[in-house]
Amino acid sequence: MEKTPVLILAPLPDFLMQPLLAAHVCHDYFHAADKAALLGKVGAEIRGIVMAGGSVSPVPLLEQLPKLEIISVFGVGYDGVPVDWCKAHGIRVTNTPDVLTEDVADTASALVLMTSRKLIAANRFLHAGAWTKGAFPLAHALHGKLAGIVGLGRIGKAIAHRLEAHGMRIAYHGRTKQDVSWEYVDSLVALAQKVDFLIVACPGGAATKHLINAEVLTALGTKGTLINIARGSVVDEAALITALQNGTIRGAGLDVFENEPHVPEALMQCENAVLLPHLGSGTHETRAEMARLVVENLAAHFSGTALLTPVC
Ligand code: NAP
Repeated sequence: MEKTPVLILAPLPDFLMQPLLAAHVCHDYFHAADKAALLGKVGAEIRGIVMAGGSVSPVPLLEQLPKLEIISVFGVGYDGVPVDWCKAHGIRVTNTPDVLTEDVADTASALVLMTSRKLIAANRFLHAGAWTKGAFPLAHALHGKLAGIVGLGRIGKAIAHRLEAHGMRIAYHGRTKQDVSWEYVDSLVALAQKVDFLIVACPGGAATKHLINAEVLTALGTKGTLINIARGSVVDEAALITALQNGTIRGAGLDVFENEPHVPEALMQCENAVLLPHLGSGTHETRAEMARLVVENLAAHFSGTALLTPVC
């Protein structure tokens, strides 16, 4: 079968590039020194795009690809894709849901543990040889505390189950009340006021930009810790830095940032923040499953069979 031309919008791992190269003519837009020249040369022929969860495919780029049929996202979050525009232009979009849920939930619960029990600081304390000079300061217990999940979807529910196993109570906020036993709180500020941990697990994009703002952080207060494994855009990072610096909230555990991979120096200086380099789904097993879905969705589309995981 003739190989289909696809545009690569993100740096992708070898275990994904190898099967893509076997089935497609891959044009590397991400690494191209002269992107306009690449589009001028191959744009008219491109039939597919492969991008990562954190990357973007803006409309002005898509408009230069008249034969584009499908965008396959290597990630569950597709906030970088103009989905309404794609729907209006008959372009299909796919992502990689479910296969990464457990890893991302593990990362969120690890951030809850690391922030509450101060495990990173304790590790640094021991490595620095400080134990022989005195005991590490006491931390805070998890059991009995209330966790508020913002976005009780696949990942949010998996986080809730893990935190229940730690003896925590669960409440949640989203646009709709769900058929679950956990308490629904229809106001985000009211949820923040109640909880000890506010855990962000909703999609990114324009609809949730800066959902977690200064008002929400003030409501979370000195007893509260913010955990974000969703998207950096959901949290007003400047307001969060101020809240961490002033002790408005107790701490934060973050896997995602507004301008990745750049993390503000002021945030890196905050001792009450645990910061991870967007590794929520970063295991060999999960990334292999995500790669399989990207490849199989493209193959399904170009062979005229049903997509495995369609967004639209
Ligand atoms: P999902 O199953 O679609 O769940 C998303 C949840 O967010 C839904 O329950 C939805 O409920 C809620 N939601 C949507 N808009 C909201 C709003 N404005 N306010 C509050 N809640 C809202 O998605 P998922 O698979 O759990 O993934 C969630 C997100 O995690 C992804 O979009 C992605 O950005 C992020 N993620 C991060 C990593 C990482 O490496 N850190 C990895 C994978 C995914 P309602 O419709 O009722 O509001």
